[in-house]
Amino acid sequence: MNSADVLVRCEAAARTYGAGAAAVVAVHGASCEIRTGDRIAITGPSGSGKSTLLHLLAALEEPTTGRVCWPGLAGKPGPNTVGVVFQGPSLIPALDVVENTALPLVLSGQPEPSARRRALDCLALVAAAQLADKLPEELSGGQAQRVAVARVLAAAPRLILADEPTGQLDRATGRHVVDVLLATADSLGAGLVVATHDLRVARRLSRQWSMHDGRLQTDPDAFSSSASATSQGAGP
Ligand code: ADP
Ligand code: MG
Repeated sequence: MNSADVLVRCEAAARTYGAGAAAVVAVHGASCEIRTGDRIAITGPSGSGKSTLLHLLAALEEPTTGRVCWPGLAGKPGPNTVGVVFQGPSLIPALDVVENTALPLVLSGQPEPSARRRALDCLALVAAAQLADKLPEELSGGQAQRVAVARVLAAAPRLILADEPTGQLDRATGRHVVDVLLATADSLGAGLVVATHDLRVARRLSRQWSMHDGRLQTDPDAFSSSASATSQGAGP
């Protein structure tokens, strides 16, 4: 495996919010590597640091100490190399669904008609094509979540970071969205990381990491012993 396969590497990367007595260490010195073809779930309770870790991996946050680097992404992530499905609302209110989905492509210079066609194809993948003309304010939380997934798929990134992408979906729809994330990561030859507190979702990925009080555990045995794991495969 050559080093270009490493999409992102954390070397004792930590993130603290606030200072003094009010300081919160959201992530303690996390060390990990994510490569092309990796399918990784990050589980952990609310407040354990999953979102902060994903933001470090996406360069949306700077580590307070330690280092994050992207050897396989020419040094630094951009909107078309790292795609983030955010946990909270992320659609632009003034743009309709197809415009939101096409936005990363238009911003990277793709002509609008072909960007819209690709956006519609990606919306169809998450069963949201019929929402194309709606504004974000007209969507349910679950519909907005599926559109946010489509927007990431449209950009065809090398690394997909999905933060609780099924959090507002019913079980069948959530299952379908995970199917689509896995299939798209396969067809793009991308890495996929899914933060989730749902162990059913986590078990669909090839590797399970966990977070507790800001500490990242990449040893799958720890997951097996903390969940009633039956389906730990032999690996990807
Ligand atoms: P998770 O995604 O697992 O729920 P988060 O990464 O969102 O965890 O949060 C980890 C910890 O960091 C929590 O204690 C949270 O309150 C805190 N935190 C997260 N973001 C901020 C912020 N912008 N400012 C201050 N504290 C934050
Ligand atoms: Mg979170």
